[in-house]
Amino acid sequence: MSEYKITDGALEFLKRVCEAVGPSGFEDEVLRMFHDYGRPFADEVVRDNLGSLIFVKRGSRERPRVLVAGHVDEVGFVVTSITKEGYVTFAPVGGWFDQVLLSQRVVIRTRKGPVVGVIASKPPHLLTPEERQRVVTIDKMFIDVGATSEEEAKALGIRVGDPVAPYSPFTVSATGKTIMSKALDDRLGAFIAVEAMRYIRESGIEHPNTLYAAATVQEEVGLRGATTVGWAVDHDLAIVTEVDIAGDVPGIDPRDAQAKLGKGPTIVTYDASMIPNQRLKELVIEVAEEAKIPYQLTVVAKGGTDAGRLHLYKTGRPSIVIGVPTRHIHSHVSIAHLDDIANAVKLVVELVKRLDEATVGALSSF
Ligand SMILES: [Zn+2]
Repeated sequence: MSEYKITDGALEFLKRVCEAVGPSGFEDEVLRMFHDYGRPFADEVVRDNLGSLIFVKRGSRERPRVLVAGHVDEVGFVVTSITKEGYVTFAPVGGWFDQVLLSQRVVIRTRKGPVVGVIASKPPHLLTPEERQRVVTIDKMFIDVGATSEEEAKALGIRVGDPVAPYSPFTVSATGKTIMSKALDDRLGAFIAVEAMRYIRESGIEHPNTLYAAATVQEEVGLRGATTVGWAVDHDLAIVTEVDIAGDVPGIDPRDAQAKLGKGPTIVTYDASMIPNQRLKELVIEVAEEAKIPYQLTVVAKGGTDAGRLHLYKTGRPSIVIGVPTRHIHSHVSIAHLDDIANAVKLVVELVKRLDEATVGALSSF
C-alpha cells in the first residue's frame, strides 16, 4: 500500500471547488462537484434536507458510526439593493473584517450567470481630511459591476438576495509547497474528509466501523448544517476537519495562535464551541505519534466549529477537531501548506482504522 499523496487530480479538484461560488445557503454548485468526485468511492450518498452531502463507506461493522465532517460554505455576501446609478449594495454572510474588502473583485451569481464586480467606495480625491483618517465600513461600500444605470444592472440578472463570493484564482505558490486561495475555510476540511474516504477505498483499508464523510452547509452563519447532519448520520463519534488559525504571521502572539505552516495538522485542545473528549484527544495524539505524523496542539479561544454542535448530539458524542494551519482566513487569499493537508488526511485514515466499538465505547465509560 503506497502512502497517501495529494494527486494531480485531487489538487485540480481542490482548485475547482475553492474557485466555485458558495456562500452559506448557496452551496449547490460546490456540493455538485463534491458529489461527482466522491461518488465512485462511496457505498451510498445521502443528502439531508438542509443540503449537506454525506458519503457512506461501510467497513466490517455497522457501528460505531464515525462522522468526518468539513463545511463547504464560505464567507460571502448577499445583494441588498441596486441603486439608480447601477451600483449593487450588499450585506455580509458570515464574519468579515471590513478592511480586507475594498478594491477586491467579487462574483455575483445571478439566475442568468456570473457577474464580476469590484468592491468600491468614494475615491481618495473626494475624501475630506477627517474621512481619510477613518476606516471605511462595509455599509459605505458598494459593488461596481460596470453598469451605468439600474436598468442595465438588472438586465444582467442581478436581484436582491443573490449570493456574492470573492473572485480569487487558486494558485500554487512559487515555493511549490503552499497554496493560495479563497474558501480554504473550509472546502479544505471537506476535501480532507472525502480524500480520506477515497484513500481507504482505493487502498482496500479495513475499518471496523461505518465511515460517514460529510460536506456540511451553513457553518459560517452559526453551525446550522452540523445540527441536521447529526440527525441524518446518528454518529457515535465525530472528527471535524477545519482550518486552524496560523500563528506564524507578524503581529500574532504565540499565546493566541500556536500553529505554524508545514509543522503538521493541529489537534484543537479547546475552542469557544467545544472542549473535546479528553480520552479521544489523547487517542488522537497517540495515533499521530505511533504513525509518525507530525501534529501541533492548539487553543482557539475565540472561534468555534461544526464540532460545537456535533458533540452535543443526543446525549453527547466524543468529538475532536483536526485542523490545517491557515493564514489570512476570511479574506480573498488564504494560504495553507500541502504537507499539512496530506498529513491531516493520513491522521484521519489512521483514526478510522482504529475506531472500533470497544475503543469508542471506552471514551465515554466511567
Ligand atoms: Zn470554517
